[in-house]
Amino acid sequence: MPSVWIEEGCINCGACEPVCPNKAISAGEQLYVIEPSRCTECVGFHFEEQCAKVCPVDSCLPDPDREEAEAALLTRAKRLHPDQVFGPDAPSRFKRQGRAKT
Ligand code: SF4
Repeated sequence: MPSVWIEEGCINCGACEPVCPNKAISAGEQLYVIEPSRCTECVGFHFEEQCAKVCPVDSCLPDPDREEAEAALLTRAKRLHPDQVFGPDAPSRFKRQGRAKT
């Protein structure tokens, strides 16, 4: 189970797939699915999880049983995007308090 996952209320609208910066989301047999090894909770790219932001039925949810630290998520982002530089100001949901959501 990824740290963000899609639960059964998913209506297969597909809104989440194009907004994922890591191409972690794809259409599964019944619901859209998130590949855990590609999900960074949008760390490195946005101040909030984009799939959760666009989901019209709130089916993209954090998994309380699989919490991941910001450093681990940023390491994953670097692995997935080796040509990209992630500076200390890289967007992260861990930094979003008091900031405009992006
Ligand atoms: Fe992709 Fe971000 Fe959703 Fe993870 S939280 S699946 S990185 S859009």
